[in-house]
Amino acid sequence: MGCAGAKRIVLLGPPGAGKGTQAERLARHLNLPLIVTGDLLRAAVREGTPLGQKAKAYMDRGELVPHELVVALIREALERIDGEKGFLLDGFPRNLEQAQALEAITPIDVALLIDVPREEVVRRLSARRVCERCGRVYNLLTQPPQRDEICDACGAKLVQRSDDTPEVVAKRFDVQYNQDAQPLIESYRRKGLLLTVDGMGSVEEVFARIIRALEERCAGS
Ligand SMILES: [Zn+2]
Repeated sequence: MGCAGAKRIVLLGPPGAGKGTQAERLARHLNLPLIVTGDLLRAAVREGTPLGQKAKAYMDRGELVPHELVVALIREALERIDGEKGFLLDGFPRNLEQAQALEAITPIDVALLIDVPREEVVRRLSARRVCERCGRVYNLLTQPPQRDEICDACGAKLVQRSDDTPEVVAKRFDVQYNQDAQPLIESYRRKGLLLTVDGMGSVEEVFARIIRALEERCAGS
């Protein structure tokens, strides 16, 4: 599939919505290049490109990489892949200011929101456990160990990090995600670019909904 009206796509959704998994499947399905901003940043730092060196200086100081730098990285990536043909962008923008910066370098056809209610985000993220010996990460809902709360790799006990408790996850959702995401989502809605998909259910169910929603949009445009 694929249609002229939906080829430059940004993915939105809270942490724990399964965005990364859906992004990979969708990119394959639509034959669109996937740009994951976190990966772009890590690659640029690893390769020591001019932008990567600038980014590294911020990271070394424990500061957030300014969004101008991330936008410059996205611009480079779009030049490499010929952004005119379309792309799937994951991890950016996260707020209104970043959306405006992105708009200055490329138009967007669809902002695809994988919507998961706050209670579910809390349920999913607070199911995270980590091995106290080797550090391997599990999720009791999606990636459980073979034996109850015991590490598959080393047999040590799994523990919950203090920042994965339901209270802390809920607070992080309110402060870090919701506050920024709501105005962003609203702005895409006003522009008629927002496509919301229910993120509850299995990976397959959510993926099928995404495809259907994109097809309906194509048929309607
Ligand atoms: Zn372990």
